[in-house]
Amino acid sequence: MMRLLSKRTALLLIYVMLLVLGLLAFTMKYLDHASTWVQHPSNRHLHANGRLVVSGRVYDRSGSILMQMVEGRLTFNEDKTVRTAVMHATGDAKSNVATGAQTAFRARLSGWDLINGAYRFNDKLGPGSNLSLTLDADLCAAAYSELAGRRGAVGIYNYKTGEILCMVSTPSFDPENPPDVQADPDRYEGVYMNRLFSAAYTPGSVFKLVTAAAAIEHLDNHNFRYHCDGQLQVGGDMVTCSSAHGEVTLEKALAVSCNTAFAQITLELGADILQEYADLAGFNSRLEVDGIKTAAGNVDVTGVKGADLAWAGIGQYTNTANPLNFMAYMGAIANDGVRVTPRILKERGILSFIPASYEQKRVLSQKTAEQLKQLMRDSTITASHEEKFKGMELCAKTGTAEVGGGKQPHAWFAGFLDREDFPLAFVVVIENGGFGRSAAAPVAAKVLQAAVDAGVR
Ligand SMILES: [Zn+2]
Repeated sequence: MMRLLSKRTALLLIYVMLLVLGLLAFTMKYLDHASTWVQHPSNRHLHANGRLVVSGRVYDRSGSILMQMVEGRLTFNEDKTVRTAVMHATGDAKSNVATGAQTAFRARLSGWDLINGAYRFNDKLGPGSNLSLTLDADLCAAAYSELAGRRGAVGIYNYKTGEILCMVSTPSFDPENPPDVQADPDRYEGVYMNRLFSAAYTPGSVFKLVTAAAAIEHLDNHNFRYHCDGQLQVGGDMVTCSSAHGEVTLEKALAVSCNTAFAQITLELGADILQEYADLAGFNSRLEVDGIKTAAGNVDVTGVKGADLAWAGIGQYTNTANPLNFMAYMGAIANDGVRVTPRILKERGILSFIPASYEQKRVLSQKTAEQLKQLMRDSTITASHEEKFKGMELCAKTGTAEVGGGKQPHAWFAGFLDREDFPLAFVVVIENGGFGRSAAAPVAAKVLQAAVDAGVR
């Protein structure tokens, strides 16, 4: 009898626990999504003609005002370069930018909260709530200036805390004087898109860092030797190099970006292994940055072989990469294989009680990350990037991604500083910018130097 009772008690206890867990999950979901429901443009308490009628201020990480409501009108930073540089972070006055705070964090800015809703005294709306972004206004302005009218994206984030310090997408415009974008469609192509979050480009040689991770775990990388005579016949196709590199080690192959060596490595690895490491590196999935979903890069080599597979291993074929996702992969290599999800809100509101470790994911073993880091550091020195990045402990890779159609290649430069005091990972992409080395690397050098000089981390 006693036994039966205790059995029933145990069962009952399990039921109760399940119920409590279910309630807890529901409550969490409600807390998490309530602000999304209330900020929907059909909620006319907060919106007029689909626009936000109340708004708190948006600050950068050190308290500069990036956007505020003055007498019913949205106004932006007093410095034209700053407000143009952060336009994709604040949004414009007409809510055209999906990733802008004005759209993405509407509920918070409107002052809506779970207890009081949007109603304040006597049915009148309050002034809204302020929020701080993790961005540094001056760093964004520096990146915008360095892009010098070229189309592309620059991102820098702290790979330990996840805070995005610099986020710039071009073309942009001065939100205080919005242009007629229809009148000049060429100049303003995709101007409302935040290219760091929402674009996907052919990665070219920066992708060799994915292939290299697979090579470290699956090939005898220390004894790897390859003789490059400038081209490699694969089936009926030819994989070509910028020049005949002679005998290369894995480090040298990375430093001189030897296509044929990496083509050979890829063919030895095979499609399944390449696919596995591409997926681990964040391809084919989106990141969520404080609720803002990024675009997903694409690598699909299922059943692919021969020259197509070889080209995929060197970042061509049908591969695409999202700049922010790739930056996070750089951060993972730097951070012992653990990827901290980038974020843009300084205060995390209702989620702040969840430890940051909740948003971490191991994407490489610690040992592989260490070897890859060392490989990147050695090849960066060999590739003589040191002069422009003195004392920075730079680990980086260039990319010059062929896009066909007679257009200039996309220029990439991605990597990180291997420094405790400045744990910064970065990405620079310039659309049809030419060579990664001459077009993208100098932009990274200037902006990273600005970060170190100003103590932004
Ligand atoms: Zn070569």
